[in-house]
Amino acid sequence: MMFHEMKEKDVEKILNTSIENGLTASDVEKKRKQFGWNELQEGEKQSAFLLFISQFKDFMILVLLAATLISGLLGEYIDAIAIIAIVLINGFLGFFQERRAEKSLHALKELSAPQVTVLRDGQWHKIPSKEVVVGDIIRFSSGDRIGADVRLVQTVNLEIEESALTGESVPAVKSIAPLSNSHASLGDLENMAFMGTMVTRGNGLGIVTGIGMNTAMGKIADMIQNAENLVTPLQRRLEQLGKILITVALGLTLLVVVAGVVHGHDLYTMFLAGVSLAVAAIPEGLPAIVTIALSLGVQRMIRKNAIVRKLPAVETLGCASVICSDKTGTMTQNKMTVTHLWSGGNTWNLTGTGYNPKGSFYIEDQEITPQNEKSLYQLLTFGLLCNHAELKKKDDEFIIDGDPTEGALLVSALKAGLTRDSLLKQFKIEKEFPFDSTRKMMSVIVKDKNGRRFVITKGAPDVLLGLSESVLWGGKQQYLNEELKNAIESSVEHLASMALRTIAIAFKPIQEQTVILNERDAEKGLTFVGIQGMIDPPRPEVKQAIKECREAGIKTIMITGDHAITARSIAGQLGIFRGKEKVMEGAELNNLSLDALEEVVEDVAVFARVSPEHKLKIVKALQNRGHIVAMTGDGVNDAPAIKSADIGISMGITGTDVAKEASSLILLDDNFATIKAAINEGRNIYENIRKFVRYLLASNVGEILVMLFAMLLSLPLPLVPIQILWVNLVTDGLPAMALGLDKPEDDVMRRKPRHPKEGIFARRLGWKVISRGFLIGIVTLLAFLTIYHKNPENLAYAQTVAFATLVLTQLIHVFDCRSEKSIFSRNPFGNMYLVWAVISSLLLMLLAIYVPALQPIFHTIPIEPKDWMLIIGLSSVPTFLLAGSLFVRKKA
Ligand code: ATP
Repeated sequence: MMFHEMKEKDVEKILNTSIENGLTASDVEKKRKQFGWNELQEGEKQSAFLLFISQFKDFMILVLLAATLISGLLGEYIDAIAIIAIVLINGFLGFFQERRAEKSLHALKELSAPQVTVLRDGQWHKIPSKEVVVGDIIRFSSGDRIGADVRLVQTVNLEIEESALTGESVPAVKSIAPLSNSHASLGDLENMAFMGTMVTRGNGLGIVTGIGMNTAMGKIADMIQNAENLVTPLQRRLEQLGKILITVALGLTLLVVVAGVVHGHDLYTMFLAGVSLAVAAIPEGLPAIVTIALSLGVQRMIRKNAIVRKLPAVETLGCASVICSDKTGTMTQNKMTVTHLWSGGNTWNLTGTGYNPKGSFYIEDQEITPQNEKSLYQLLTFGLLCNHAELKKKDDEFIIDGDPTEGALLVSALKAGLTRDSLLKQFKIEKEFPFDSTRKMMSVIVKDKNGRRFVITKGAPDVLLGLSESVLWGGKQQYLNEELKNAIESSVEHLASMALRTIAIAFKPIQEQTVILNERDAEKGLTFVGIQGMIDPPRPEVKQAIKECREAGIKTIMITGDHAITARSIAGQLGIFRGKEKVMEGAELNNLSLDALEEVVEDVAVFARVSPEHKLKIVKALQNRGHIVAMTGDGVNDAPAIKSADIGISMGITGTDVAKEASSLILLDDNFATIKAAINEGRNIYENIRKFVRYLLASNVGEILVMLFAMLLSLPLPLVPIQILWVNLVTDGLPAMALGLDKPEDDVMRRKPRHPKEGIFARRLGWKVISRGFLIGIVTLLAFLTIYHKNPENLAYAQTVAFATLVLTQLIHVFDCRSEKSIFSRNPFGNMYLVWAVISSLLLMLLAIYVPALQPIFHTIPIEPKDWMLIIGLSSVPTFLLAGSLFVRKKA
């Protein structure tokens, strides 16, 4: 018999588990030994060896190796071995860089892997879905991705979208009764839920029947290896640029070789010099360094609680011009405490802090006993019956397991001495219509001890008011006329103006025979009971974050399902609403066409009473106005907006799997301030990439030009091939990496957002590369010429001086690259990685010059102290010249 044909109890027995308590730790251990981890096998990965070999598949490297082989055959052993050693070291470096990049990307994937809620040893836990075993009891609700194949044993309006398996895009309605047909196709298995499918409505609980490759999904695993987008636009642009640079570098190298040969150098020398130059001048390390800078930046973001799911988001973050953020939980603490209650014209105050269930009820200054106030007691009772939250204690602090709004209602009831256990002895909950943020309410159908049934609904007061026909007023049920309606509305507004979040409660008796099929039947003709108003204080750090965003040219818009007045008051406290902006409600949004919304969207600071469906329209309108939009969300219905925003952001704590999977950034702490931190980091990463692109390219330009000028002027070679390769390996590589770790300039968050189409060479970077490169070439040549003219016999000495000058000029120039302004605007010791990289490069250069054993390899001759004056002087010229010109320009 198959699991879907069995009764739940039989499945429980066969799989040796308990629906009440789940598996025990030792069961789990045993089952894991037997069946392994709940993982789908991944496709073949590139082996380490192949990755290493791939470092040498570059055309110029192959030419260099061939050339070296020839020089080896011609007897130039030392040169050949040295060049091969350098190529090998370069290869290893490339290999480790790529491995590191790959590993951090993998770690990233693991971090954002879905979680599953499982029952073990009688307690519910959240664990990575990989750790689930057969026999585990798991539960899930709207927005969750199912972590394994499951035989369902409880469902509440459960609907699951199974298109990945069945191709059917309409969600399947689930139930628990055994099915008879043993040949049923996947789509017909109503009492099963499958790994990888998505809960779109309701909730459920089931026993895991299959994991990993033994699931329906495992059988088609290769189909769902969805390739996440791992290449950023900048990387793509750099790749294209790389091709252009190769062509240019090769062209110039060819020119060097031809000029050299024309001016009497022998072909073989020029060939080897040319190839070395080409290898040095082609920035083959660039893509790997970019990936490392990106992934290190991503790790820094993780430390600040932001997980980047899609690498391109790192770049887009720096372009964000608008953040649309949820209010509850993201800008506020999501720690709700009921402070005011209203029913039938009376208002009560309730004391207490947080979720501590201690507090007293007052009318004005008079303490009262809630049991004596019938309407208050009813308001509290209904608030507790229509509620799933549980109060727990952790480290002496009361916390809520479940929805904080419901937590507040639970605590207000507890303060009046009500408990769920005692209520459940009097009332039986027959059916539930769960909360969703489009309806903005939820309902239960309950039956009391006398067999009377009624609906209890709780939700947004304005929504419930629209569905109510009567109201409890003065202990009596009264027809809800305009006057009473106005009275209720102004009470709601009064509470909302104190920044309180308001939840209304209503009910309706139902006849014995009445069948209630859906929420629409249940939630109409209600009797309005009252309102509970709760505080949800802003997170302390958010105000500052919003201010910093404004200084960075980024506008913050609050989007919330909450009441307009509550939202506006909180927006006021946070500095989003400053008096002139518009507050727009969902109802108004409905009536506006996209074009009309575009006209006004720039003036809106708060969208209130919106449904997730509205978010998409807001994103579109902002994008049509040319904005780069970051949009947060947590529910299933938020996914389309998250997906179409330029930066989709989901919540790590309250977010559903669906929202997380649609997003490119996850906030581990659900905190708005984390978005700002991520944007800051995003801008910084981009700036750092600019820094080392600038450094590497200017260095390469310098290297080519010194050779080219020398050949055009009919001079001997100013650098020998091994020296060129050395510069490429040591002087270029280490400091460039260190630039990738640089701290941001002070004003990064005071600049306007970067335009997303901005090219790599924008903001004068191209000019900086060419001008600095030119100067590096010129001073190196000058150093060479000065020494060579003094003593033309000792060419190797002049070459050593040129080598030292080239290295030193670059190592000074690297500090230039740290700033968009001038070298003097930054503390040179602000980036100790760079300081150490520069010191190591210098030491390695000195070794190559002064260690006798290395001198024949690098064709060097010890430089005399007096000549260092010349080298140091010339090396500083480009930096001072440019700092001076900047100063003059600024003055002008
Ligand atoms: P945000 O969109 O900023 O996260 P929100 O929590 O107010 O804010 P929704 O979750 O869409 O947005 O809630 C909309 C409204 O529905 C709330 O203002 C409240 O009146 C009502 N509501 C929220 N949670 C519940 C609940 N658990 N039961 C009944 N009604 C609720």
